[in-house]
Amino acid sequence: MNDLIIGAHVEQSDAITEATDRGTTIAQIFLGNPQSYKGPALTYEGGIAALREDARAAGIGLYVHAPYVINVATGNNRVRIPSRKLLQQHVTAAAELGALGVIVHGGQMGKDGDLDAGFDNWRKAIDGLKAEVPVLIENTAGGDNAPARQLENIDRLWAAVQAAKGADMVGFCLDTCHAHAAGADLTGVVERVRAVTGRIDLIHLNDSRDANGSGADRHTSLGQGQCDPDGLVDVVRSAGAPVILETPGDAAQHRADIDWLRQRLAAPIA
Ligand SMILES: [Zn+2]
Repeated sequence: MNDLIIGAHVEQSDAITEATDRGTTIAQIFLGNPQSYKGPALTYEGGIAALREDARAAGIGLYVHAPYVINVATGNNRVRIPSRKLLQQHVTAAAELGALGVIVHGGQMGKDGDLDAGFDNWRKAIDGLKAEVPVLIENTAGGDNAPARQLENIDRLWAAVQAAKGADMVGFCLDTCHAHAAGADLTGVVERVRAVTGRIDLIHLNDSRDANGSGADRHTSLGQGQCDPDGLVDVVRSAGAPVILETPGDAAQHRADIDWLRQRLAAPIA
């Protein structure tokens, strides 16, 4: 693989210091409260323009994680419509920031939800989105009726978004904890996902506190959870994409995650 590009999810208000403390050249931030529909709220001193300039000066590429509450797939209008608006607000702000991309979860249809409608809602959401930065759809951990959980659903989701006008701005973010939670074997998952999406643009590299197939979304430090360690390494090696850690802890803990990974990437494949 090419040189590893790795960073971590950090606090927006201190994003550049947090990234440089980790010795990284990329970082991921929220632009607002991840559990709220209120829209971007800049806590970085000097706002978007200052963050953009400071990131550029420090050589840090920024990814924006859209709020968790966004669900553009759901059949519930009162969630879907504000979700689209919120996604647009984040994409617009991310473009002002000069961000590398916006990561958004695939959403949930609920127990009795109509998945076919969910895929079509995704197509409409992309159709209606003015995307000036790539929008990376992330696989999700739980739910029986989730457009981006199981591979067969990701396949159908991809067919739907590829039919949208803005399809060229849509990419894929593979989260290892979520794939493990969905019951996937991490070894080979990159090839299986790429066979349906044609691309993986970003890896969220997280270990999981829970068992394979649990549906639970509780991230933990690399090597400390129930993900197959060889599988985690295989994902990074096969994807050749930038890696963002969403593991717990401070700069020292993230440096330990990065060391854990680098040691294993350097070792010959058994
Ligand atoms: Zn993630």
